[in-house]
Amino acid sequence: PPRNDDLKALIRTVPDYPIAGIMFRDVSTLLLDGHAFRETIDRLASSLDPADIDLIAGIEARGFIVAAGLSYALGKGKLMLRKQGKLPGPAVGIDYALEYGSDRIEMHLGAVKPGQRIILVDDLLATGGTALAAVALLRGQGAIVEQALFVVDLPELGGGQRLRAEGVTPASLVT
Ligand code: 5GP
Repeated sequence: PPRNDDLKALIRTVPDYPIAGIMFRDVSTLLLDGHAFRETIDRLASSLDPADIDLIAGIEARGFIVAAGLSYALGKGKLMLRKQGKLPGPAVGIDYALEYGSDRIEMHLGAVKPGQRIILVDDLLATGGTALAAVALLRGQGAIVEQALFVVDLPELGGGQRLRAEGVTPASLVT
């Protein structure tokens, strides 16, 4: 079996969360296992060439955990893409639709210098709405975003195809 099956086995499925009919893939159970978390970060990091990266952007909140690990592993800065109203300085944001409900992410103005190459990171790719909003937000600030990393991809929800259509190559450990 593919080696990432060991990580997959640690991700719990919670039915009917946050609303009826959703099968929530809960990575908190993987994070409780220190060896598995280290493996997760090491495997994602080994798919990246540090020479091609200026910054790692993580999406609040679970994406921060993965992005912080990658930032540390690669020695790259970490950009926080935060939920609405959390940033102390002048911010720019974008609204987007979720698999369930809607949301808004924001970043500090001036956090990205035009032309910086940014890897987008989140825990999970579903419809791609969140990741595409993040790509639009970052590109709107002059960033180059061509790669996105996830621990989990739910391919039947089409996020990977939507990202590719926007010129972003997705990669994940577990489907
Ligand atoms: P999308 O915008 O691709 O439809 O949904 C992905 C976003 O919602 C990610 O930020 C992810 O954290 C969250 N999300 C949606 N469904 C799940 C799920 O089943 N498990 C986890 N861990 N996150 C989810």
